[in-house]
Amino acid sequence: MTIKSSHKETIVLHAGYRKDNATNSVAVPIYQTTSYQFDSTEHAANLFSLKELGNIYTRIMNPTCDVLEQRLTALEGGAAALAVSSGQAASMMAIQNIAHAGDNIVSSTDLYGGTWNLFANTLKTMGIEVRFADPSNPENFAKVTDDRTRAYYAETLPNPKLHVFPIQEVSDIGKKHGVPLIMDNTAAHGICRPFEHGAAIIASSCTKYIGGHGNSIGGIIIDSGNFDWEANKDRFPMLNQPDPSYHGAIWTEAVKPLGPIAYIIKARVTLLRDCGQAMSPMNAFLLLQGLETLPLRMERHCQNAEKVAEFLNNHDKVMNVIHPSLMEGEQKKRADSYLSGGYGPLVGAEIKGGMESGKKFIDSLKMFYHLANIGDSRSLAIHPASTTHSQLTEDELNASGASEGYVRLSIGLEHIDDILSDLGQALSEV
Ligand code: PLP
Repeated sequence: MTIKSSHKETIVLHAGYRKDNATNSVAVPIYQTTSYQFDSTEHAANLFSLKELGNIYTRIMNPTCDVLEQRLTALEGGAAALAVSSGQAASMMAIQNIAHAGDNIVSSTDLYGGTWNLFANTLKTMGIEVRFADPSNPENFAKVTDDRTRAYYAETLPNPKLHVFPIQEVSDIGKKHGVPLIMDNTAAHGICRPFEHGAAIIASSCTKYIGGHGNSIGGIIIDSGNFDWEANKDRFPMLNQPDPSYHGAIWTEAVKPLGPIAYIIKARVTLLRDCGQAMSPMNAFLLLQGLETLPLRMERHCQNAEKVAEFLNNHDKVMNVIHPSLMEGEQKKRADSYLSGGYGPLVGAEIKGGMESGKKFIDSLKMFYHLANIGDSRSLAIHPASTTHSQLTEDELNASGASEGYVRLSIGLEHIDDILSDLGQALSEV
């Protein structure tokens, strides 16, 4: 028996697990095993033919990972999920599951740099073309869609611009063409549920706010169960035609008795089987510990971030502050319609004086950690122009939203007075 609730605070503590059947353990055990004994040859055959779902080998499934998968599925209101080794693995697999050489996807231009590289370079070497669309006008997605478009892809709250993505508008366009929207919800778990706005799939990093403590890398793909792959047979041959890698299974038919989860089952039993980006049970355990407090932490991250945005906005060494709470017009409207419970945990600030001022500010921080991550319980900062974006020209930097004086702040859970005090003393050094 597991406790059912529609409240995120309860879901993250109870969904998918009550106690261990063998030991009555209340904490989710770390099932540190590679393999699982079959009850009989018939049992083994049923598992391999998907007549029965169960554990075969930890590269493909593991009971600790399973609880994380069930909990995140419930949190996002989906049908089933697949935990993988990193956020990058999640975005790669989410696309590889429905697109191959000769196909294309359309992606938002507002993307995490690692995903940009994957899309612009690595997928290209595999023959998958990524067409980029500026999300400020959702119609840009329609303009580059054709018969070989297999998915739309975007981030809910992409930095550095922090412009909330028009999820409903683009998923509506996708529905007209039979194209599913894949959302990277990494920076907005707990404050946005993309499936409620029409998204078909979530592919996120668990490394950031889900884990929340900066100790484990992981990723998650969640299937909403709402996209009709069979209604678009020609667009999705990988789900609707016999798969030679699995005895000719036609995924939309073979999986039907298990629910509307053809997409995620195929990802598990073919891609994870073949490519092996499995999450370790230890990381699943650590991510579950973080997940238990995600709604609470996110609330405080957002409260602190809003106070930081206000503080920086009134500071004479700061030229411009980027945070949805301070936006106007269409951007504010989108933030208000898609985020609930806060305007997000990230703040961007352009320090007056460009490159040297940005660097001086970062070097003067004492409590904030200077590193390339977001979503830790501690406050973090980075100066993109001298690190993650250092290969870009000044024009490219400005186009990306990270100008020479721009710093990205991932606001932590310390007392707000200490956060503001550290920012204030660092600004006084600039
Ligand atoms: N998506 C977003 C929005 C990210 O910020 C990151 C990492 O920073 C990733 C995906 C990749 O996640 P991971 O580092 O877990 O591979």
